[in-house]
Amino acid sequence: MSTHDKVRMAMALARKGVEWDSEKKRADCPLCGERARVVTTKKQDRARVRYHACTNDSCLICALKEQMKSVEVVEG
Ligand SMILES: [Zn+2]
Repeated sequence: MSTHDKVRMAMALARKGVEWDSEKKRADCPLCGERARVVTTKKQDRARVRYHACTNDSCLICALKEQMKSVEVVEG
């Protein structure tokens, strides 16, 4: 795979967003699998919308500084 393709794939993955694990209270980077840091949390009616960043130096999503969105639906 060319570098261009890798970058494109990493960006597509990041933009698809990540899944928030409400038991473990974490979301993982879809590319390298490491825990993604929470950058911001926005409370909406029944959801918490978070933006994550990968902090793994050797990961393209980290290198590209792409942020990944997750949505947690809050009960009640
Ligand atoms: Zn990563």
